[in-house]
Amino acid sequence: MRSSFEKKTFLDQIHRTRLDHRNYRDHERVVFGSDAETGLSTIIAIHDTRLGPAFGGCRMWPYNDFDDALADALRLSHGMTYKNALAGLDFGGGKAVIVGDPARHKTPALMTAFGRHVDQLGGSYITAEDVGLTPADMEAISQGTNHVRGTARNRRGDPSPHTALGVYHGMRAALKHAFGDRRLRGRTVSIQGLGNVGYALARLLHDAGAKLVVSDISRDAVERAMHAFGSEWVEPHDAHRVRADIFAPCALGAGLNDETIAELEAPIVAGSANNQLAEDRHGIALLERSVLYAPDYVVNAGGVIALARPDLSDMALEAEIRKIGKTLAAVFARADTEGLPTQEIADRIAEERLSAAPSH
Ligand code: NAD
Repeated sequence: MRSSFEKKTFLDQIHRTRLDHRNYRDHERVVFGSDAETGLSTIIAIHDTRLGPAFGGCRMWPYNDFDDALADALRLSHGMTYKNALAGLDFGGGKAVIVGDPARHKTPALMTAFGRHVDQLGGSYITAEDVGLTPADMEAISQGTNHVRGTARNRRGDPSPHTALGVYHGMRAALKHAFGDRRLRGRTVSIQGLGNVGYALARLLHDAGAKLVVSDISRDAVERAMHAFGSEWVEPHDAHRVRADIFAPCALGAGLNDETIAELEAPIVAGSANNQLAEDRHGIALLERSVLYAPDYVVNAGGVIALARPDLSDMALEAEIRKIGKTLAAVFARADTEGLPTQEIADRIAEERLSAAPSH
C-alpha cells in the first residue's frame, strides 16, 4: 500500500514536511528524487563521507507517507556510517529508500531511473541490495549508474555466509573475553532463526564442535537443522531462556527487551539480527546483568564487508572478516575499563575513527 503517495505527489509531500527529524541535521546531503514516467519516488540519504563514498543498500518499501520514508532513510544511513567505520571499510554511510510495494510497483525501468539518480551524485553514494530488491534489480540499476555493488560484474553472491562467518569469529572473541578460551568445542549455542545466516552459522558452529539448540517459526527449518546437526530444539520464544553459553538472535530485531533480558540464561549474546536492543537503555540492562553483548552492527558486518570489497580474493576477504573478532575484543576490553555498555563503546570507536579522518 502506498495510498497517501498515490493521492498526493511526492513533491507535495516534501513541501509539507518540516525537515526537523532528529537525524536530519547531521546528514551531509539528502536527495529527493522522482521520475514521472516510471513512478519512482526515492530518497537518498548521505550521512557521512569522511572515510570515503557513502555505501549502503537501497530498500523498497510501501511507506505510509513521506515522513516515514525519510525517517527510515535517515536512521539507516546514520547506522551505515557506524557499521562501515567499525568494519574498517574506507566507506562512509548512506542509504536509499524507494517508496512503493515491490510486488506491485517495481519495474526494471523504475530501477534504472533510480540508478540515474544515484549516478547524478557522482560516486558520493554507492548503492547495493537491501529489503525489497533482488540481484535482477541491481542489474537494472546498473543500466543507470556504475556506482552499484552486487551486480553480475562485481557480485560475490549471497552475503549471508560471510555474515555468518563474522558472527562465528565474534563468538570466539566473546568466549575468549568471558571464559579465557575462544574454542567452541563443547559450548552450547542457542540459535533463534535458521534462515540464510542462522543456518550457515549453525553449520560453522557444528563443525567446530558446539552443541546447538535451535528455534525458528518454520518447523521445516528446525527439522532440517535437527537432521543435519543433531541439534535440540525449543520454541522461538524460549530461545533466550536456554541454559547456553551463547544466545544468538538471528531472526528479528528488538528481541532484547525488559522481559527477555531478565530471563536470559546465556552469559553472551552474539547474533546476526539487526537492531537487537529494543531501546538504547537495554545495553545498560545487559551490562547490569553481566551479559556480554556483541553489538549487532559490529558482529554482523561480514556481509557488508563482502559486498564492499569485491576486489579481495576469497582468502583476503576471509582475513578481513576474521578481524571482526579483533574489533570486538577491543570493544569488550574498553567496555570493561570504562564500565559502559558495549554498544556505546562501539559507537565511540566509530566516532573516533571518523574524527581522525582527514577533513575534505
Ligand atoms: P532470513 O529471512 O533468511 O531468515 C530469518 C529466519 O528467521 C527465517 O528462517 C524465519 O522463519 C525466522 N524467524 C522469523 N521470525 C522468527 C521468530 N520470531 N523466531 C524465530 N525465528 C524467526 O534472514 P537472514 O538473511 O538469515 O537474516 C537474519 C537476520 O540477520 C535479520 O535480522 C537480518 O536483518 C540480519 N542480517 C542479515 C545479513 C545477511 O547477510 N543476510 C547481514 C546483516 C544482518
